[in-house]
Amino acid sequence: MAFSFDTTYKNLDPNLYSRATPKRITNPDILVLNDGLCADIGLDTAELDADILAGQDLLEEPIAQAYAGHQYGSFTVLGDGRAMILGEHMHDGERYDIQLKGSGRTPYSRRGDGNATVSSMLREYLYSYAMQNLNIKTSRSLAVVRTDEAVARRRVEPGAILVRVMNSHIRYGTFQYVASQVPDELQRFTDYVIDRHYPRLHAKDCTYSEFFDAVMQSSIEMVVDWLRVGFIHGVMNTDNMSIDGETFDYGPCAFMNYYDEKAVFSSIDKHGRYAFGNQRRILRWNLERFAEALQPLCAQSVLTYNELKVTLDEFEDRFDAQYYTMMRKKLGIDAGGEEELVDELLAWLRISNADYTNTFLELETPGTFDDPLFATAEFEQLRDKLTAVGLDEELMQEANPRYIPRNYLVEDALKQYLDTGNLSRFTELLAVLENPYTSKHQDSQFQQPPPREFDAEYTTYCNT
Ligand code: AMP
Ligand code: MG
Repeated sequence: MAFSFDTTYKNLDPNLYSRATPKRITNPDILVLNDGLCADIGLDTAELDADILAGQDLLEEPIAQAYAGHQYGSFTVLGDGRAMILGEHMHDGERYDIQLKGSGRTPYSRRGDGNATVSSMLREYLYSYAMQNLNIKTSRSLAVVRTDEAVARRRVEPGAILVRVMNSHIRYGTFQYVASQVPDELQRFTDYVIDRHYPRLHAKDCTYSEFFDAVMQSSIEMVVDWLRVGFIHGVMNTDNMSIDGETFDYGPCAFMNYYDEKAVFSSIDKHGRYAFGNQRRILRWNLERFAEALQPLCAQSVLTYNELKVTLDEFEDRFDAQYYTMMRKKLGIDAGGEEELVDELLAWLRISNADYTNTFLELETPGTFDDPLFATAEFEQLRDKLTAVGLDEELMQEANPRYIPRNYLVEDALKQYLDTGNLSRFTELLAVLENPYTSKHQDSQFQQPPPREFDAEYTTYCNT
């Protein structure tokens, strides 16, 4: 059979999930299938037909997970409203959730239809593919399968199911759910998560405080990686924060072109809560909510609030350390220090609003781009200072992508598909993003930022 399931989540307290059945569809059509991912997790593509990928041919009963979360700051009890886990697939001793998104209603759907549009599922496929190849920990997309229904969002579109693969879909919000709804289960659930994601901690005495520390560390690493490539997640609600530091829930996300810490593209994020430069602050806020969710463990005397606080108090220093290490690499600086020089570059970026990605490529190889901002005296002075301490090409090539998913190219590819049914631009973009650190399309349109007016107007949407 295609998958090799061993679904441990079903052994947990029944309040944590519900049985769910994928909607019936006729004529499911595989639009994209991720061969590289199949190989990585031991799946034979010949065995993966559209019925299996769309949940029409089941190996076992799927489940929808219960969770809660702070959405834009307000606490809500939620759950997978349009997603279900087919099972936990085992390969080479590793465990992967195989989840369908857009597969119909579940007990947690509330007023939602359980559906997803084909453009938003292709969009998620493309962003997760890019992030994986940018060496950022992320959910991965196995396939997009078009369904035969019409799904009404901003326009009426065909529906689609995305097959998503993650180490797990457990989130900060899953802990918030357990703490608020079934607090007596919290210790057992935490043990399960430690076993599944942080088994090395079992050897330690202070397991629960170490667990909080490890989650904080993996989240810091994830967000610093976002800042490295200019990624704006767009909806960092606590239910979209993975316990294992995997980037996931590609909804209103986007990549920043012109450097702007206030950059935000999501239609509903009117106050910039999830803006590019606010992601650090929001991560800390989310970690505080996660720490609160661990409080029942303090009542059971297996953790103290002080232990959580000591770790939280380290947040700024640890984030800074990770951030400056990353920025030094982007600037090809091999040694430590040089924070002031990094800050100087950031100050220049803030004032110039230069293209973030191309700035580093231009520093690496002057004359790559014909952009007047790179011909200014300020930029040249900065480059001279950096030459004295860094600009090591090899380091820079590992940290600075030559290609990111440029918003306008993504939209163009999706529009071509919706208008004509042709996926040629989409697959071309995937091919470029397969090796984002390798310059093989130099001088091509794939390195060009959009016109500034495009970015100023560009809007992304949740739940489409
Ligand atoms: P998100 O903003 O994607 O993290 O989604 C927030 C919550 O809304 C999650 O519990 C989703 O499962 C749910 N949701 C989003 N879209 C739909 C839909 N079309 N039908 C049912 N539930 C949905
Ligand atoms: Mg979500």
